[in-house]
Amino acid sequence: MTFSDFRLDSRLLEGLQSMGFEKPTPIQQQAIPVILQNKDVIACAQTGTGKTAAYILPVLHKMMQTSHRHLNTLVIAPTRELVQQIDQQIEGFAYFTGISSIPVYGGGDGAAWDQQKKALQQGADIVVATPGRLIALLAAGTTVFDHLQHLILDEADRMLDMGFYDDIVKIVSYLPKERQTLLFSATMPPKIRALASRILRQPEEINIAIAKPAAGINQQAYMVYDAQKEKLLNHILKTHTWNSILIFASTKETVKKLDALFRRAGITARAFHSDLEQTERETILRAFKNKQLSIIIGTDVLSRGIDVEGISMVINWDVPPDPEDYVHRIGRTARAETTGTAITFVNERDQRRFQGIENLIGYPIPKMPLPAECGEGPVYSPQTRREEGFRKNRKGPRRKHFRPRFNK
Ligand code: AMP
Repeated sequence: MTFSDFRLDSRLLEGLQSMGFEKPTPIQQQAIPVILQNKDVIACAQTGTGKTAAYILPVLHKMMQTSHRHLNTLVIAPTRELVQQIDQQIEGFAYFTGISSIPVYGGGDGAAWDQQKKALQQGADIVVATPGRLIALLAAGTTVFDHLQHLILDEADRMLDMGFYDDIVKIVSYLPKERQTLLFSATMPPKIRALASRILRQPEEINIAIAKPAAGINQQAYMVYDAQKEKLLNHILKTHTWNSILIFASTKETVKKLDALFRRAGITARAFHSDLEQTERETILRAFKNKQLSIIIGTDVLSRGIDVEGISMVINWDVPPDPEDYVHRIGRTARAETTGTAITFVNERDQRRFQGIENLIGYPIPKMPLPAECGEGPVYSPQTRREEGFRKNRKGPRRKHFRPRFNK
């Protein structure tokens, strides 16, 4: 199957060709025809599957058939980085079409607000926005979406996790009832279903293998005590071939600690977290994209918002609390059918979480022996719920410190 089978406008096909897209991905194969038929869609697809093109190509095609292009389409996404990434992709696909899009997100200074307000008033064709900033602009009465034809919610589960349910419902109340609504989500918890039944009309359901890492990712895990992690990281950097690496940690504090550690070791790396100004974040991502910077250390803010080709390795300094975040983190490597390595450090406390990840993806992740220079690590023996409950209910004095068991 090729993109011309969808009978998309030739200017779109030209854009795709110049971007080097040859074959539609599975989500594109399923979603594009349904969206072209003007149906509402609820699609379960994670980042890295080509979902952005899956919704934007048919929407661009339809926009080219209509004269109502101004403020025709609204895309809502959870983070600024994702908004920028979607906007850039639209720019690429729409290059030969004359259709314009603008990114709208918080942060920045008053000038950014004025610029976004002006662009909305002048009527960009597609608006890609984070919910918070969009609500503020709508409440200021500057933007009227009377001719809107398409509403797209991207990474809807993430938006709900971030507490945007009410904001989304509010935004929808500003939109015409006659519209096509497309909801994309990496997972389908009941709250997504509830939102869908509120804002979609008889949607067509599309399911692309739920939360499975791409096949091209070589996943590995090390059972390791916290005190051994630094040595292990050094070992990996020395013994693997890599050109760009993302290192994830669950908290800003750990990210900052790792940043300091790299500085001491004389390795150029940059920390990426929510304390940084928007312009700093953009500078870091640009440097990484241009290959001037080869290591970024970030929290999960980074896991959803970075679209860079050729990331050879993802290292999880710790196990993310939410198993789906693991899939998002490692999905930063092996984008669109290339290969990459994803290595996870699992300390004795994270073993239960790690087991949750294996349960989610449906297969065990290979556990690698620690290199000799690190010494012995903890044994992999995740506690089951039952055992944990037994320990909690046990009568008598509790051990204050749970001592790790060493390998024999
Ligand atoms: P997404 O899931 O939308 O974040 O897309 C993941 C990456 O795959 C992006 O870098 C896209 O540019 C790329 N991509 C999407 N569709 C295709 C395709 N049909 N062929 C090649 N690359 C693609």
